Amino acid sequence: MLREEAVRGCRGCGDQYRVTERQIERALAAFGSEPERLVPDDVYESRLAACRACEKLADGVTCMACGCIVRVAAKLREKSCPLPGGGRWTQV
Ligand code: SF4
Repeated sequence: MLREEAVRGCRGCGDQYRVTERQIERALAAFGSEPERLVPDDVYESRLAACRACEKLADGVTCMACGCIVRVAAKLREKSCPLPGGGRWTQV
């Protein structure tokens, strides 16, 4: 059931709430003035790889466990994967 929802996206949201590539790029660009908050590129890619393999990722964009936009959250040092037991992001 969850896997099916992940493929279709969130049941409660229609296309009007779909996050655009431009919005994601704008959010990422906003962190440019705070580099101390960002993880290195290799950590970022490792986190995104974990998300891409995760059944909680909906539409390739949103984490169904916490509601975050993973391409934005994975860039931030203070964020973590919400799954129990430390989550799927193994690096800080
Ligand atoms: S943040 Fe964690 S639970 Fe969410 S999609 Fe990524 S790996 Fe899955």
